[in-house]
Amino acid sequence: MGPGKEPSIMIKINRLHKSYLTGRNRLHVLKGIDLHIKKGETVAIMGSSGSGKSTLLNIIGILDDYDSGEYRLSNTLIYNMSETKAAFLRNKVLGFVFQSFNLIPFKSAVENVALPLYYQGLHRKKRNKIALEYLDKMGIREWAEHLPGELSGGQQQRVAIARAMVTDPKVILADEPTGALDTDTSYGLMDLLKTINQAGITIVIVTHEHDIAARANRIIRLKDGIILNHD
Ligand code: ADP
Ligand code: MG
Repeated sequence: MGPGKEPSIMIKINRLHKSYLTGRNRLHVLKGIDLHIKKGETVAIMGSSGSGKSTLLNIIGILDDYDSGEYRLSNTLIYNMSETKAAFLRNKVLGFVFQSFNLIPFKSAVENVALPLYYQGLHRKKRNKIALEYLDKMGIREWAEHLPGELSGGQQQRVAIARAMVTDPKVILADEPTGALDTDTSYGLMDLLKTINQAGITIVIVTHEHDIAARANRIIRLKDGIILNHD
């Protein structure tokens, strides 16, 4: 690699600012974020409610834009991107896991997992075959034909992780993924994320829970839109 290249940096954020406009008011949420996350790292983002954690994760996930500064994902500058290009990158590079699972209630587990492959243009048979493999990896293959409402919270989150993994992403973004789960189920899920991380996938996880964050390689604390410390 030539000088100046940083091939091991997956997420590179410099001097990033983000405000929301609500009516006449401007709410300055992120106030100069510097954050570099290496390929293969698991980073936990902590901070009290309203500190800007989800805003930051949504920007990393190209679900929202920012005002100034710079964000590079795997060396690609992410700024003012067309929805087509953003959707392409989200589908190709990123996987999302949310506190509320965000599964489609009237589709079976296997159909939920197969959905990102539909957007890649794969045929139904191929989609379902791959989706089943991922349900198997998450230990819930026998639940493939069930609707989300027939599954426990932990099982639903495993379906959501299978859906996040099915496109073979480089980065998993998880916003309080254990927030709706009991402690034992949460630990089981963190073990699963650990396995995923060991396969070389970068993980950014927002969490309130110290024992969950303690399992990351690094904890970042956000307060009032600034990173307090890097440890
Ligand atoms: P956290 O995830 O740390 O709880 P958020 O990033 O969700 O914090 O929110 C940070 C601040 O930005 C909060 O004051 C919230 O009300 C505000 N906010 C978040 N999203 C929007 C939005 N789409 N429009 C206006 N304000 C928002
Ligand atoms: Mg949040």
